[in-house]
This record gives sequence, structure tokens and C-alpha cells, in this order.
Amino acid sequence: MSDLETKPIIMFDMDGTLLDLAFDNLIWNHKLPERHAHTHQCSLQHSLDTLHAFYQQHKHTLSWYSSRYWTAKVGVDTLQLQYDFKDQIRPRAGCFELLEALKAQGYRCWLLTNADCAGLKLKLENVDLAPYFEVMISSEEIGYSKECIEFWQILQRKHPFDPNNAMLVDDTAPVLQGAERFGLSKLITITQPSSDQVARNPLELDYPAINDLTELLPLLNPVHTKELNVKTA
Ligand SMILES: [Mg+2]
Repeated sequence: MSDLETKPIIMFDMDGTLLDLAFDNLIWNHKLPERHAHTHQCSLQHSLDTLHAFYQQHKHTLSWYSSRYWTAKVGVDTLQLQYDFKDQIRPRAGCFELLEALKAQGYRCWLLTNADCAGLKLKLENVDLAPYFEVMISSEEIGYSKECIEFWQILQRKHPFDPNNAMLVDDTAPVLQGAERFGLSKLITITQPSSDQVARNPLELDYPAINDLTELLPLLNPVHTKELNVKTA
């Protein structure tokens, strides 16, 4: 078996993992309420309450991740809003150092995002991630969000992979749980997905956690380790 076949495929989430979630927080928690209030001539508090209710209703569904859905639902062009602040899109610490190292070591990397296709395109236009990935998938293409086991089943049909020889790095616990139900066991999360929020305590997270992305490298060697336990390391 060649080296390429034995190395695990490293699957990465985008927002909050490779990219700083501060951009998305800025858009959805600050700029959208402001623009919503301005568009509908209501108070900012009214917009915050209205949007919060929508967020609670749709969290972790495909609609939640669709700028087209939000544009129709709240009467604000949310894709345009993201383009208006695109200069705030930034990689997380260690992003390119890690991707360069993985490339040099011959790892196959996949980018799996719940961002819709338009959102993925926007991020790739502003942060040069594309050259590092052999597969880049929006859950919009799959028809299920990554929280659902169906996402992983359909992904595997489109791009065959062995769940026992793949690793997922993702900042969202329900996504990791979805992948785990499908059969992935090498699961890593992120302590501080957004630079504008405090880091989570690794001891309180359900999965081994890293912060700077280069912390992933020691976890890959040996690649078949069963006890990934950075929590207590
Ligand atoms: Mg994420």
C-alpha cells in the first residue's frame, strides 16, 4: 500500500476552523440587525429580537446556512452584506502553516462547509485556501447539513473515503456528532473559533481540542493513534 493510501484524509470545516468566525459574528450578530432595522425602519432592539427568534428556529438546518433563504426571510440582501465587509475575512492562527505542512507531507485535504455555495465562493475569493484542497464541498450541494448523517453518506458516494482513515477538524459539536454517528472516530475541535470571543475550556469540550491549527501536526504522528487525548496531555 502506498504512503498516499495509508495517510488519513484530513477534512476541514471552514468558518470557525480555518477562518476566523469573527467575520460571521460581525455579519449575523451586528451588521444584519443594523441593516434590518434600517431597511424596516424599526428599532435595533426589535431587529435583534426578530432575528434572534429566526436564528433559534433554524439553527443547524440547511436554511440557516443559506444567504438566499435569509435574504427572502428578512428582506436584507445578506450575500451583498457579506461582500460589503469582505475585507474582514481572515484565516485563523496557523492556518496556512498547517496547510503548507500537510501539503509538504503529502496529506490529502478536503474542505467541507455548511456555508452555501455563494458563501464558499466569497471566502475562497478572499482567502487563498483552494490550492490546498482536492475536494471542496458546500452542504448546499449535498442537500443536507453536516450535522446530518445523510451528509456523510452522500459525500462518501460522491467521493469515496474510508471513515476509519479520515480525520475531521470542526468547531461545531453537533457537526462532529453527525460525523461520529456516520463512523468517523478521529475528531478534533477548536477552542477559540472566533477571535472576538473568549476561548472555550478544552476540558469542557466533548472532543480533543486545538487552538493554533499547527497543533494538529503532532496529533497526526502516528496517524493511526486511537487515543487522541490532547485534553489531558
Ligand atoms: Mg464551523
